[in-house]
Amino acid sequence: MERLTYLKDVVTLKLDEAKCTGCGMCLEVCPHAVFRMNSRHVEIRDRDACMECGACSRNCPVGAVSVKSGVGCAAAVINALLGRTDQPCCGPGDCGCSSAGNTGAACC
Ligand code: SF4
Ligand code: SF4
Repeated sequence: MERLTYLKDVVTLKLDEAKCTGCGMCLEVCPHAVFRMNSRHVEIRDRDACMECGACSRNCPVGAVSVKSGVGCAAAVINALLGRTDQPCCGPGDCGCSSAGNTGAACC
């Protein structure tokens, strides 16, 4: 399958390589393989592939990753604004979407 790319240069993901211990947790939880392991720590391999789910920042034990989760979840916002309540959702909080438009009824 072709690699998914969302919007270019809008992702809020930040990595502090100096804090990273190289535990690899973010590699485990990231659904889009945004990170890769360098010799002693991870680095961002493909920032634009990030969907801002927030899993990496929630699971990093040393706070080396930050991301404003939910801002990239445009589908949830648009569906909520359109009043679409029949769209499947993984539920508020479970998917990391903290958008005000995420009511649990319309999500990515
Ligand atoms: S926010 Fe989600 S998609 Fe983006 S780097 Fe973190 S785990 Fe991967
Ligand atoms: S979870 Fe945090 S400390 Fe572990 S490899 Fe990723 S950025 Fe580094």
